[in-house]
Amino acid sequence: MSGNESRIQAVYEITNREPKPPKTPKRLEEMWASDVFTLSKMQESLPKSIYKSVKRTIELGEKLDVSIADVVALAMKDWATSKGALYYAHVFYPLTNATAEKHDSFISVQGDGSVISEFAGKVLVQGEPDGSSFPSGGIRSTFEARGYTAWDVTSPAYVMETDNGLTLCIPTVFISWTGEALDKKTPLLRSNAAMNKAASKVLKLLGHTEVAPVNSSCGAEQEYFLVDANFANSRPDLLLTGRTLFGKPAAKGQQFDDHYFGAIPERVQVFMQDVEEKMYRLGIPAKTRHNEVAPGQFELAPFFEAANVASDHQQLTMTILRQTAKEHGFVCLLHEKPFAGINGSGKHVNWSVGNATQGNLLDPGDTPHSNVQFLVFCSAVIRGVHKYGPLLRAVVATASNDHRLGANEAPPAIISVYLGSQLEDVFEQISKGGVKSSKSKGLMNLGVDTLPLFPKDPGDRNRTSPFAFTGNRFEFRAVGSGQSVSGPLVAMNTMLADSLNWVADKLESELAKGAELNTAIQAMLKEVMDKHGAVVFSGNGYSAEWHKMAVEERGLANLPTTADALPVLKEAYIEELFDRIGVLSPVELESRFEVYAEQYLLSIEVEAKLMVSMAKTVIYPAAIRYLSELSATIAGLKEVGIDLEKESAEKVAMLAKFMIDTVSKLNAALSHHDFSTTEEHMQYFAKTIRPLMDKVREYADALEGEVADDLWPLPTYQEMLFIK
Ligand code: ADP
Ligand code: MG
Repeated sequence: MSGNESRIQAVYEITNREPKPPKTPKRLEEMWASDVFTLSKMQESLPKSIYKSVKRTIELGEKLDVSIADVVALAMKDWATSKGALYYAHVFYPLTNATAEKHDSFISVQGDGSVISEFAGKVLVQGEPDGSSFPSGGIRSTFEARGYTAWDVTSPAYVMETDNGLTLCIPTVFISWTGEALDKKTPLLRSNAAMNKAASKVLKLLGHTEVAPVNSSCGAEQEYFLVDANFANSRPDLLLTGRTLFGKPAAKGQQFDDHYFGAIPERVQVFMQDVEEKMYRLGIPAKTRHNEVAPGQFELAPFFEAANVASDHQQLTMTILRQTAKEHGFVCLLHEKPFAGINGSGKHVNWSVGNATQGNLLDPGDTPHSNVQFLVFCSAVIRGVHKYGPLLRAVVATASNDHRLGANEAPPAIISVYLGSQLEDVFEQISKGGVKSSKSKGLMNLGVDTLPLFPKDPGDRNRTSPFAFTGNRFEFRAVGSGQSVSGPLVAMNTMLADSLNWVADKLESELAKGAELNTAIQAMLKEVMDKHGAVVFSGNGYSAEWHKMAVEERGLANLPTTADALPVLKEAYIEELFDRIGVLSPVELESRFEVYAEQYLLSIEVEAKLMVSMAKTVIYPAAIRYLSELSATIAGLKEVGIDLEKESAEKVAMLAKFMIDTVSKLNAALSHHDFSTTEEHMQYFAKTIRPLMDKVREYADALEGEVADDLWPLPTYQEMLFIK
C-alpha cells in the first residue's frame, strides 16, 4: 500500500472491529493458583514424609533431597497431565531479559513399540538444553555448549498454555557445564542466601534467639503501552525495535494530565481483566491497575512476594501482557521509551527484607526494640546505596532505558536515597550525636533502646528520587519497563549483605572490647551517617542545582548513559564485592559485562540501520512525491498568472536534503569498526551514533509537519495514541 492507504485501512479496521466481549467474571477462589502445583496440591498427592521434605526446602531453604525426586516428579506429572498437558519445559532466564524454555514430551517409547507417559525424577531435577544460542559472554564457546538447567524448588511449577498446547513449566537455574551462572536466577538465589546469612548474624547480635530465614521481597509495578496491532504492523520501527524511531508529537500529548488515573477505555478494561485472570490462575497476585501519565499508557502492580518468586512471576507477567495483547488486537510495548515527547515506561521495584520471626525488617515498627532493628537495617541500606550507587546505576543500564533516565520524567542517573522528612530528621540527629527529639508528629526522646514509633507518612513522597523509602520498603524507580527485575534485586541484596556483614563485624568487635550494645549501635549509626549521609537527598532530583551539587559537593557519580554506567561492572571494588559475598565470580561478572555491552551495541546498531533504511525508502520518497506535486502545481499556476508561495516547497526540499545528508553520515559512521575496547565502542555509539540518529529524526519529524497527510506513510502519534 502506498501513501497513507495503510493508515486509512488501519483506522477503518479499528473503528469497525467487533469488540471482544468481556468474560463473565469468575470468583477469585475458583481461579486462584488453579494452574500451579502448589504446596497444598503437593500435600494432597505426596506421601507425608516426602511432602515435609519438599516443604522444608521451600520454606527453610534446606537442600533438596534428590532421592525423593522420582515421587515428586510422578505426582507433578499426574497433576499436569490431568489438566491436559502433554509436554514439560524447564523454564530459565538467560541474560537477555527474556524467558527461555525447552519443551519435551512426556512420551516414552517402550521395547514393544507402545508408548507411556513418563517423567523421571532426574528429568525434573536437571535438564540439558542446548544452550549454545544464549549469550554467555565468553564463558562457553559453542564447541563446549553444554548448559544445565536445575529445578528451583522454591518457585512453584505451573501449567501454561503455549503454541504447543498445555505445558508443565518448571522454573530452573541455568548454568554452564563448568558450573558458572548463565542466567538471572542463580545470582538472585545466591544474593538472597548471602543477605539471609548476614541479616541473621545481625539479628542475633541484637538479642534475638529465634531467627527464621530472612528473605527479600519484591513488588514490581509494571508500566506499558498498548497500541492497536493494525497501526503497529505498519510501523517497522515498532515491530523491530519496540519504539518509534520517527514520529512528530501529537498536538495533544499528556499536558492536560487527563489520562493519569482516568477512566480506563472499555477495550483496555476487557484486556486487563483477561490478563488478571491468567495471572490469578498462575498464582500471581495482581492487585492494582490504572491509566498512567501518557495517553495509551497503563500500569499493573501485583501484591509483593518473595523476591525469587516475584522475579519469576514478573517474567510471566511480561509474557502474559504481550500474549494477551495479541489476542485483543493490541501490541503491548514494554520498551522504556516507545514515543518521544511523552513519558516512557519504567518498573518500580519495591524491595524489603524480613522473616517469619521478626517480620519486615524495614518497617519502622511499633515497639522500641524493633525500631533499633529498623535503624540498623535502614542505615545498612543507606551505606550500601552510597558505596555502591554506581552499581545500582549499572544494573538498570540499557540502550532503551537511556532515553528515560535523567529526562525529567524518570529518576536521574545520579543515585541518591530519599528518606522522607521524618526519617531524615532522625538520621540527622543520629549524625549529630544521638537521637534526642523530633519536630514532627510529637515524637522522640530517644536513647536507642527506647525508640518509640515513627508515625508512617505514606503521603510523603518524592517522585524525583531513584531510590525512595516508602513507609516500610525501598522503591527502586530507575528500573526499565522491559527489564528483568532480577539484576536490581541482586544488586540490592548484595549491597545489603555487605553492609550487614560490616555492621555485624563492627558490633562484634565493640562488644568484645566490653562496650554496651546500645552504645555500640549508636556509634555505628553515627559512623554510617558521617561517612555515607551524602547519599541522602530530599530535594528535587530533576533540578540542575542537584546535578551540580550531587557531583561537585557530595561526590556522587552521574553516569548519564549505558556507555558510562556498564563499565562499573568491571571496576575492582565491584568485582571484589560480588566475589566476597559469593554472588558472582569475577569470570561470571566479566561475562555479564560482555553480554550487556553487546546488547547495548546491537540494539543501537539495529535501530540505526533501520533508521537509515526507513529514512531512505519510506520518508524521503514521501517528501519527494509531495515536492513534485507542489512544484508541478506552482509551475502550472504560474502559467495562468497565479503566483503561489514557494516557501513550503523550499522548506520540504531543504529538510529532505538535510535528512538524507545526515543519513549518509550515519551510514558512514556505522561502518567504523576499529575499536580497541568494548568501552570505546560503547562510547562511540553513545557520543557519535546516537546524536546522528537524533538529527535524522529531527529532520524527518519536521517533514511530517510539512508533507501532505495523504502522502504520509507511517501511522502518526495521534492515531497510535488516541485511537482505540
Ligand atoms: P505506588 O504508590 O508506588 O504506585 P503501588 O501500590 O502501585 O504503589 O505499588 C506498590 C508496590 O509495592 C506493590 O507491588 C506492593 O505490593 C509493594 N509492596 C508493599 N509493601 C511491600 C514490602 N514490604 N516489600 C516489598 N514490596 C512491597
Ligand atoms: Mg511506585
